[in-house]
Amino acid sequence: MHTSVNVVVVGAGAAGLAAAAQFNELGLSCQVIEAQNRVGGRVRTLFHGNGRAVDLGAQMINADMRSVLDLARTGSLHCSVVPNSGQDLCVIANKVFPRDEFIDHDTVDMVLEARLDRVYGPSSDVRFFDCLTTWFRTVGFRKPFRTQQNSRDASVLRMSVADVLRMLPLSTHDKQLARTQFCEQYGVAAECLNALAVKQAFQSYQSDRPDLEFHFPEGMEKITDQLAGQLSFPPKLNARVERVSCVGQRVEVVTGADIWLCDFVVIAVPPPAASKISFVIEESKALRDLLGSFQPGSVIKTTLEFRSAFWRLHGWSGRISFTDPMGLEVVDTSFDDSSPPRLTAFLGGPKAAEWASLNSDHRIAKLLDLLALALGDEARTPKSFEEALWVEGSVCGGGYNSSVRVEGVHNAAQKLREWTGRVRFAGAELDTAFAGYVEGAIRNGRAVAAEIAHTLHANGKPHLAHER
Ligand SMILES: Cc1cc2nc3c(=O)[nH]c(=O)nc-3n(C[C@H](O)[C@H](O)[C@H](O)COP(=O)(O)OP(=O)(O)OC[C@H]3O[C@@H](n4cnc5c(N)ncnc54)[C@H](O)[C@@H]3O)c2cc1C
Repeated sequence: MHTSVNVVVVGAGAAGLAAAAQFNELGLSCQVIEAQNRVGGRVRTLFHGNGRAVDLGAQMINADMRSVLDLARTGSLHCSVVPNSGQDLCVIANKVFPRDEFIDHDTVDMVLEARLDRVYGPSSDVRFFDCLTTWFRTVGFRKPFRTQQNSRDASVLRMSVADVLRMLPLSTHDKQLARTQFCEQYGVAAECLNALAVKQAFQSYQSDRPDLEFHFPEGMEKITDQLAGQLSFPPKLNARVERVSCVGQRVEVVTGADIWLCDFVVIAVPPPAASKISFVIEESKALRDLLGSFQPGSVIKTTLEFRSAFWRLHGWSGRISFTDPMGLEVVDTSFDDSSPPRLTAFLGGPKAAEWASLNSDHRIAKLLDLLALALGDEARTPKSFEEALWVEGSVCGGGYNSSVRVEGVHNAAQKLREWTGRVRFAGAELDTAFAGYVEGAIRNGRAVAAEIAHTLHANGKPHLAHER
């Protein structure tokens, strides 16, 4: 069956829904096609019988993430502050230390102390990332980059984050902690991450605030539900797009059962998932290289409810970085209401893939042992726990987001963002202000929709109803 619309949006995650809502608002007919049986993509909330919500995917935002906050305001969602007081801890070689013992104060203080202390207080995560960003901006990095570029030696374009960390003026323990942070954040080992791409991702975080400021007791899914509620036509679910072909002035979008004809298609799926779609378009080789530059990650998110926030009685914040297993970070995710206090563990990278092959009992026993090592035996007896494995990434891309592999095109995100023609790309990974966040997905989806609508209106394209 052929259906004709102005625009087809592939993927009903935050980016696809935001794009489709924008098309509808701008008077264009649009159909969203989604592979899964639900909308939201990497935003997913589990609702317990007791009414409590657990975010299995995205959860936290900051005060600069205006698109999410505006949707929260429209939906009258309560915004709870993510707890962040007390001593952060780290566990290195089975020993527990205060986290801030391992900050390289010389480097950080030189450039950033005044600003960081004013804005963040002693937040070591932010300090580390800012330290690294600063280092990337130094002449020491740019100079060889230019020289190498001139001599057409691509080695610098293929430096990994592990290579860069080796060159940073940090102690061994700092470097281990840095590696664990990268592993958790990107879902792959530092050896696999293209350093220049990570630099671009840093630069695309257009906020002076930490990313974990607020969350919603009712769940982040209420945000994507708000977007879905703005659509004129319900998304077509359980329909995986297999082929996209340019046919004359139109685009044919093919699922297992249907064919859609449209003026433009927006591919709002993570690049590793997009690489599984067959594109019959000009420059399909260049597109394959860009999409193939991204690698899926792995992350396991485990939220544990406790009877009391016992860690606070010791003066601890509940934030813990572990270097073994590499990629394990823990955060206090309690809400400011009467619900039981929570800790959430995020295990990213190769260890997440390894743990995913264990059975759930074995996995949780390992996690509780590690929590007990850091916080004492009270950590062994959570009231309940909920796990989410974002490891198999056939449609979600795996991990929080996909990242550029060392040998990939370092500015693949920019190139996909700027891809012109009737096939366009959108998604969290491609945003210029909040890449890798729900905010970025919404912003990017809306931006792509506004551009396409402008082109269609400029060409005098009339509104096209769904036509069969
Ligand atoms: C565990 C976890 C924790 C996170 N925590 C946070 C957080 O605290 N704060 C934050 O801002 N962000 C967080 N993120 C990241 C955030 O969830 C994502 O960046 C964002 O949701 C991505 O939105 P998107 O629309 O770009 O992609 P997606 O949400 O991945 O949506 C893409 C959609 O496309 C569909 N699809 C894929 N292939 C096809 C196909 N061939 N045909 C049809 N449909 C297809 C998929 O099923 C999916 O629904 C987290 C992510 C995870 C996994």
